Amino acid sequence: MVLLKLKGLLQKQNKNIMASSFIPATVIENYQWTERLFSLKLKAELQPFVAGQFVRLQVIIDGKAFAKSYSLVNAPSEPDAEIYFNIVPEGKVSTALGALAAGDKLEISQPAVGFFTLNEIPDAKHLWMLATGTGLGPYLSILKEHTVWQRFEKIILVHAVPLAKELTYSELIQRFRDDYPDQFQFISIVSREKHAGSLRGRIPHLIETKQLEEQAGLEINRDNSHIMLCGNSGMLNDSKKILKEQRDMDRHLRHKAGHVSAEQYF
Ligand SMILES: Cc1cc2nc3c(=O)[nH]c(=O)nc-3n(C[C@H](O)[C@H](O)[C@H](O)COP(=O)(O)OP(=O)(O)OC[C@H]3O[C@@H](n4cnc5c(N)ncnc54)[C@H](O)[C@@H]3O)c2cc1C
Repeated sequence: MVLLKLKGLLQKQNKNIMASSFIPATVIENYQWTERLFSLKLKAELQPFVAGQFVRLQVIIDGKAFAKSYSLVNAPSEPDAEIYFNIVPEGKVSTALGALAAGDKLEISQPAVGFFTLNEIPDAKHLWMLATGTGLGPYLSILKEHTVWQRFEKIILVHAVPLAKELTYSELIQRFRDDYPDQFQFISIVSREKHAGSLRGRIPHLIETKQLEEQAGLEINRDNSHIMLCGNSGMLNDSKKILKEQRDMDRHLRHKAGHVSAEQYF
């Protein structure tokens, strides 16, 4: 039954993707953070969307069109589309996106779609936003909007990366800290090197050993928290398993309120 409902939701999302069509976009800037990490700003006639949703970017490679999904980092109130992406090894579309420069043309699907949005999330005291790598993107869009600050007492953004230089968007994150000092916390995790001020390890392990909660000074339990997960399937699956087994926290479904929402990138 649950599987059937989940299938229905996925079919609805796929239908929405199919219903969206491609429109032209022009590169304003392709800001390079590291060898593989970029923020692409695009001028396009964006339709209204909800923070947390994603678009598809289409590029022509050897005469053929290829499209992949990307979350919007810009808030719905901001006019230009912004995409935070990494070039993945042997990745066709991401490599093509990495080569784009100001003035280049591509296509963007409209409207943006997806259910990784606050209006799909039940009320809770604390909102935990856990990201690996470029999974940070949709949270930035959500945090730029007023709603999140009105709905949750505490908001904890967690960004896990392999190397410290991949802790991007620090100015924007500092702005959230400055604007909401008692409400917002940022926790960084660097897995492949020691980095002062960052935790070390994988998100699921840091949940299991309660190190994330110690760092935040807040407990994660089914009565006080909603957990958002965005990024790779390993982090998503292992975190969901630990949250279920250790904390009895369930996946949130439209027809059955739970405590964990997820957006899987790959
Ligand atoms: C709803 C949704 C939203 C997404 N939003 C973003 C986003 O905002 N930013 C972003 O960078 N990606 C995002 N992705 C992933 C993105 O769609 C592409 O899969 C990615 O850019 C690689 O495309 P590609 O054609 O270059 O390589 P592919 O041929 O698709 O993949 C090559 C290999 O890279 C792995 N891979 C795919 N994506 C990533 C990644 N992000 N990091 C590391 N390895 C990866 C794949 O598992 C595969 O093994 C999103 C995916 C979904 C489903």
